[in-house]
Amino acid sequence: MDVRSAESLSYPFPDTPAPGEVVEVAPGILWIRMPLPFRLNHVNIYLIDDGEGWAIFDAGIGNDNTRAIWETLAAGPLAGRRLTRLIVSHYHPDHIGLAGWLAQRFDLPLQMSQTCFLGCINISLSPGALDAQPYRDFYLRNGLDAKTTAIVTTQGHGYLKMVTALPPTFNRIVAGDTLHIGGRTFAVLSGDGHAPEQLMLYCAPEKLFLAADQVLAKISPNVSVWAVDPLGDPLGLYLRSLATLRRDLPTDTLVLAGHQLPFYGLHTRAGELIAHHEHRCALIEEACRTAPRSAADLVPVIFHHPLDPHQMSFAFSEVLAHVNYMVREGRLLWTHPENGIARIVTP
Ligand SMILES: [Zn+2]
Ligand SMILES: [Zn+2]
Repeated sequence: MDVRSAESLSYPFPDTPAPGEVVEVAPGILWIRMPLPFRLNHVNIYLIDDGEGWAIFDAGIGNDNTRAIWETLAAGPLAGRRLTRLIVSHYHPDHIGLAGWLAQRFDLPLQMSQTCFLGCINISLSPGALDAQPYRDFYLRNGLDAKTTAIVTTQGHGYLKMVTALPPTFNRIVAGDTLHIGGRTFAVLSGDGHAPEQLMLYCAPEKLFLAADQVLAKISPNVSVWAVDPLGDPLGLYLRSLATLRRDLPTDTLVLAGHQLPFYGLHTRAGELIAHHEHRCALIEEACRTAPRSAADLVPVIFHHPLDPHQMSFAFSEVLAHVNYMVREGRLLWTHPENGIARIVTP
């Protein structure tokens, strides 16, 4: 056993910043919290001393409340120092939502991955695309009922309500790049699984890791298969990313994550997340040993409480991530569809 992974998580900053306030988590690195109108009710944003002002890591969701808090911050805790640039970790609305507005309001260059930029633009160019028949068929073929299928296939419109339009140009950054922010250098890392090409920043001399949603202290980040890439293996990519982070980053790294508290214990947490997914894989494998199951059949194997259609759509997509992963690993097989529904068995 790796003795370093025996440590437990610790939280050096247990007091969360109130909306419009900042907490300094390292010299010249400020932590901000923006409210979210969901059960997960906040997102973390970090400001990094960039010499003449502050670089921003993630924007918050695109709504009036978050706009007002940015104005409060600019007039209050940040007064006298301008904002210099905006770096966006991934295209989920809680992170990229206000990026277009912030870039325009404060005249900021926008730095993100090409996947993030194009992913966001793609939804805004054709919000109805998710409604197409091949996407509907994907959910129905995997055993999802018609009502949930209707909700899942119209999610593109919901996304646009939470995201302001991006500017026509951006500054692409990729894994392996080095970003000079103020006096610091950050390695740009990317990790898949939660979102394609999610970017993270690592400052080696100070062991500071801006992890976005890849590693959170207490939540298992959503890892889902979507209809556009029905055979995709986001869970395999996610597990690979966790293994890479454990290999490359030291155990006493301060993790500045996209939600919940900053923490120490990266190796422990990565190990817990890997074990969590392996446990789910084992439950699915066990259920498929006795009879062929569709992905929808397997949802109650993993999720024991009643789910509304929205929760069901995420639960289903998570289950399918485990199925696709295990099919690639040779632990499960697809059977020939019966009555239009695809089912999985153990070999
Ligand atoms: Zn996310
Ligand atoms: Zn998030």
